[in-house]
Amino acid sequence: MLTLAKEGLLTTLGYVGGHWRPAADGATLYVVNPADGGVVARVADYGADEAADAIAAAEAALPAWRAALPKERSDLLRRWHDLVLQHQEDLARILTAEQGKPLAEARGEILYGTSFIEWFAEEGKRIYGDTMTVLGRDKRILVVKQPVGVVAAVTPWNFPNAMITRKIAAALAAGCTVIVKPSEETPLSVLALMVLAEEAGMPAGVLNVLATTKAAAVGGRLMASSAVRKVSFAGSTAVGKQLMRQSAATLKKLSLELGGNAPLIVFDAADIDVAVAGLLVAKFRNARALLGGGPAARAVHFFQPTVLADVSPAMDIARSEVFGPVAPVMRFETEAQAIRLANDTPYGLAAYFYARDLGRVIRVYEALEYGMVGVNDGAISSEIIPFGGMKESGFGRERSKYGIDEYLSPTQERQPSRLQSPLVNRSKRMSPHSFVIRSTKFIPPVSNVRSNMSLTNQEWAERRMAAIPRGVSQTSQIYTARAQNAELWDVEGRRYIDFAAGIAVVNTGHNHPRVKAAVQAQLDRFSHTCFQVAPYEDYVVLAERLNRLAPGDAPKKTIFLTTGAEAVENAVKIARAATGRSAVIAFSGAFHGRTFMGMALTGKVAPYKAGFGPMPGEVFHVPFPNAYEGVDLETSLSALDMLFRSDVDPARVAAIIIEPVQGEGGFNIAPTPLLKRLRQICDTHGILLIADEIQTGFARTGRLFACDHAGIEPDLIAMAKGIAGGFPLSAVTGKAAIMDAPSPGGLGGTYAGSPIACAAALAVLDVIQDENLADRALAIGDLFHHQLGRLAAASNGAIGDIRGLGAMVAIELVKNGDPGWPDAELTKAIVAKAQEHGLILLACGTRSNVIRFLPPLTASDGLVLEGLNLLEATLADLDVI
Ligand code: PMP
Repeated sequence: MLTLAKEGLLTTLGYVGGHWRPAADGATLYVVNPADGGVVARVADYGADEAADAIAAAEAALPAWRAALPKERSDLLRRWHDLVLQHQEDLARILTAEQGKPLAEARGEILYGTSFIEWFAEEGKRIYGDTMTVLGRDKRILVVKQPVGVVAAVTPWNFPNAMITRKIAAALAAGCTVIVKPSEETPLSVLALMVLAEEAGMPAGVLNVLATTKAAAVGGRLMASSAVRKVSFAGSTAVGKQLMRQSAATLKKLSLELGGNAPLIVFDAADIDVAVAGLLVAKFRNARALLGGGPAARAVHFFQPTVLADVSPAMDIARSEVFGPVAPVMRFETEAQAIRLANDTPYGLAAYFYARDLGRVIRVYEALEYGMVGVNDGAISSEIIPFGGMKESGFGRERSKYGIDEYLSPTQERQPSRLQSPLVNRSKRMSPHSFVIRSTKFIPPVSNVRSNMSLTNQEWAERRMAAIPRGVSQTSQIYTARAQNAELWDVEGRRYIDFAAGIAVVNTGHNHPRVKAAVQAQLDRFSHTCFQVAPYEDYVVLAERLNRLAPGDAPKKTIFLTTGAEAVENAVKIARAATGRSAVIAFSGAFHGRTFMGMALTGKVAPYKAGFGPMPGEVFHVPFPNAYEGVDLETSLSALDMLFRSDVDPARVAAIIIEPVQGEGGFNIAPTPLLKRLRQICDTHGILLIADEIQTGFARTGRLFACDHAGIEPDLIAMAKGIAGGFPLSAVTGKAAIMDAPSPGGLGGTYAGSPIACAAALAVLDVIQDENLADRALAIGDLFHHQLGRLAAASNGAIGDIRGLGAMVAIELVKNGDPGWPDAELTKAIVAKAQEHGLILLACGTRSNVIRFLPPLTASDGLVLEGLNLLEATLADLDVI
């Protein structure tokens, strides 16, 4: 006996016009459990009179239902969906009892069925019309889609839930009212759905169910009625043809899902495991794959999964519809032969094939005369994929965005300005064919599928080599799958400690929850308007905050840009506009970006400038002091003096640009006396001092800006990297009068100051403050110095120098402790070996012999120490210590 949590779901009455009633003549039909032959229930067996009542009820309910707002219909469908989901178990039990499929399959079908209700609840809100080309000055043509009217849905026994929901959910969402005629063998599932629809608040008459054994009488009445505007039928081709003939008198709109005989073609180079898995899904759906040949032992209604060999194309089984788990197997030699065999049937519903060669994939799916083709995939059942056949498998499409079109017709022509003769015809649409293509592992060069293909780092590296120019250099072979705070995981699932922070960008850690939340909230509002076009608050608020936070007391203004290089470019533009001068002085070993002015200012030829000349003129370099290499402060300053005397008149110099700590150049720290002296020299000659704080900014060195250590006030500061925790943003903050020099339109950019990045930056500033990240940078720096000191002592002079400011720490690798003998090779080896140990490191330095440490400032001491232990293991592996 069927026991249910909600007893009322098993009904024996029919449902018409919102009433549950027996047949007028008292007739009942038997619903038999195919597993044991027992009677599950006796259900009211309706006749032609009830069919007439159902038509009248659906017609009466139509005007109000059609007039309801799409959102109102959607809400109701949504409630129905939730109830169906809530009663999934009961509905599955009813389905199994009347249809015979295993309970697990039945549960799956209920879920599948709900997916259509959910889908069309949404699609119903997206019924759009068209506006067409103006034919005359006083004419406008609007095409609106309207519900076709009363729909009859006639469904078979094999999917008593999902076949029905995918028809009626689409019809209801479109604004149609519906009469369902289920299979007389499985009426209980749809009646249970009606109980829940009623509970969801479905108005009387919108849904009606005619369970009947008198198919001819009931069907005849439905087909004869001119009120029934559409018939959606799933069943045999013979009945489909009959319905088409019957509907001729009233010209009903039809969709027919008729018989099928799906071929499953396995080409020679196919992935056999994938093909077998697909075969089981597609062909043996309701059973286990045992090779049989006759009725299953349990009951006469069950047939064993059966594989037939040596089948020839002429045999009936090869061409006609098979309703059971039977797979006749045929061999073929050529692709053309396979296509011929597959198409040699009147049917054209679904086909599957397995192949790897892309050319073959395209040729075969285009040649198969089937409405749906699964390529390397047996699962084509989804609410988002159009369902429907061609040839004698019928026409019309269900599911997907096309499914709702079946219940709509583009009818109305409206001319708001003046009425003219109707001009709109119903368009004759092409039926969309659906192809579900799953690429196999071996087609990656043309696939845009990402990590769900689970390629290895090495495989991605190969694809990268083929697709991306070598000019974009790469310090590691790790393809990132995800990252959190100071840890990162690659596509192979390996974990790394991140001592690079995306080159000092995620000072607040990967995916800081507050930064993420700020970005998500901004995404919900808008992602881009362009600040010049439709400005937004965050840009202004962020500028105000940076103006307050920038070193020095002079009033400041800020513009936002996208990259560091762009910030440098703009700082130089502003300096030139403000001074009316053109020359710019930078330092050897400096890095200021890869755009033309950034490149010209950069103090290293290879690889940054080589081959890219000519560089913008009037850019000069003076040596950066480097105690380790024996360049002292006086050497630098006298070179500047010499420059003024021999090359450029200081009165022609617009700006001197300096990194307070050289980043790419090797973490060389500008001594405070240099910065103070530069400030004086600039003031003496009316030159502007630009601080490039792109790598040093945002708490990295233990102060918000590195200039704060020296106590100087630059005229302009270029910022980027750490400013927005991973979102592309840069800024120039400078003294207000200087910043206002360029005239309107001279500054800006399409993405400059993106709202998403500004929102992230505001959160970054909050995090830096609330989590005291400047102090954290100092503590992390101390930890590094302490541990690195120990390693250097054990390194026999390989670690020649340890230097840094806050959490911007570096070691310089040399041979025999000789500063003049850089060891670039060892540096490279350490970075590579560290990666094997699960540690991400970055090299730098004009001599490529420096390893820099830039951990997120949110990294815990424990994680930093774990990383340093990995470094120790790396050095031990390489016999450095
Ligand atoms: N200036 C400095 C000091 C930098 O470190 C960098 C980037 N490493 C840049 C400018 C250029 O920034 P971006 O790569 O964002 O253009």
